[in-house]
Amino acid sequence: MRFRNFLARATLPLKLVVFPSSCKVCGRFLDGPEEKVVCQDCFSRVEIHWGEVCQVCGRLFYFRKGQPLICRECLENQPIFNRHRSAGAYAGILKQLIILFKYQGYESLKKPLARLLLKNHEVRDILGSVDLIIPVPLHPSREKERGFNQAELLAEEISRTIGKPVAKRVLIKTRKTLTQVSLEAEERKQNLTGAFEVKNPGQILGRKVLLVDDVFTTGSTCQECARILIQSGASEVQVITLARA
Ligand SMILES: [Zn+2]
Ligand SMILES: [Zn+2]
Repeated sequence: MRFRNFLARATLPLKLVVFPSSCKVCGRFLDGPEEKVVCQDCFSRVEIHWGEVCQVCGRLFYFRKGQPLICRECLENQPIFNRHRSAGAYAGILKQLIILFKYQGYESLKKPLARLLLKNHEVRDILGSVDLIIPVPLHPSREKERGFNQAELLAEEISRTIGKPVAKRVLIKTRKTLTQVSLEAEERKQNLTGAFEVKNPGQILGRKVLLVDDVFTTGSTCQECARILIQSGASEVQVITLARA
């Protein structure tokens, strides 16, 4: 029995050499030419969601006859950005993919994740109407820690696909903020006030800006970025993110 255990352990490295990688979501071996990190099957199982969402902020929102197509939050407090859409909800496989991309260093997922976004025709509508792309920035110390800004990687990927430029280092984060996850809506707003700045406003003057981020939770980050972009001369701001929490 002991010998068998020993054998099993000894052959594990060999297996890893012969089968270099398996899908980080379902575990099956990756064999397709395009497959890296996650298999095509897992990508195809991501639920792309459009239609029954608030026409402004893109929140899941089930319409009833005779009701406005805009959620109560947007009616009471109209966002500064025109529209936000994402590929789907921050749940299931999409959530796993974003965690792999953002926290586990699988930068190569930027390509298939950008492709998922383009599957949503409402996202494609937005992409057709903008002049330039701006990623939501990270504070320089956080970016150094992570090694990349996931929003910037996505912005570059989208730029390659639609042929519109990314304006880098125009919107910058000048103050480190607390992680938004643990904060209430009101605290989130306070946490972000004055955290962003626009450098070279000439680059966005009169332009229709596409703001790109990974996850849209309460929308307060996008809201604060849109506020400063409009204040600095952008004619309008639309937002796309991978997922809506
Ligand atoms: Zn898989
Ligand atoms: Zn809304």
